[in-house]
Amino acid sequence: MDAEKLLDDLAEELRFLSLLGIDFVRKESPFAVLNKEVLHCQKCPLAQGRLHAVLGEGNLQADLMFVGEAPGREEDEQGKPFVGKAGRLLTKIIQAMNFNREEVYITNVVKCRPPGNRNPQAAEIDSCKGYLLRQIDLIQPRVIVTLGRVAASFFINSPLGMTALRGDFHDFQNIKVMPTFHPSYLVRNEGNKKLKKMVWEDMKKVMAFLGKK
Ligand code: URA
Ligand code: SF4
Repeated sequence: MDAEKLLDDLAEELRFLSLLGIDFVRKESPFAVLNKEVLHCQKCPLAQGRLHAVLGEGNLQADLMFVGEAPGREEDEQGKPFVGKAGRLLTKIIQAMNFNREEVYITNVVKCRPPGNRNPQAAEIDSCKGYLLRQIDLIQPRVIVTLGRVAASFFINSPLGMTALRGDFHDFQNIKVMPTFHPSYLVRNEGNKKLKKMVWEDMKKVMAFLGKK
């Protein structure tokens, strides 16, 4: 039997089995599907200005997820979240919590860079929100740390500012949400020890909840 005939027979058998509902052909993972969708997404005007859409990165089974605002210049260039100056600080915070970046999952509310790093607009967040909700659904983290007001507002409906909001857990679909300051805000206020101390207090609560020492 030549190779072509063998392949034909195999294809026919697979079609037959699949008609019976026996579906053992490996499907693309839901994350690969999501990533492709985001890379080609045109659902909002931010698609026009991007080099790369940034879905996120890290452990797809993470207990702990960090959600920032939107990719900045370096993230847009590299297609990875939190790789610039704020990202280096976030990495240090994660390490101070006795995790490494590969153990947690890191993403943003919107996946494409807003021009000049302005805040993403409500309509852009609305267009993009399905992706973050799918990520949360797939990863099922136990805790989400939101970085800055934009990410906090995605999960928490409150008129309070960051300073009042931070430091306490909130609930989102049975997931604990801890809002804290954005690392860019810490970078901009480098000398402010109080801010750093507050972020560290918030992260210690997260560690305690996760039983991390
Ligand atoms: N700031 C964010 O909010 N997200 C990033 O990925 C980088 C900087
Ligand atoms: Fe699509 Fe989100 Fe990028 Fe807008 S920001 S184009 S909704 S991936």
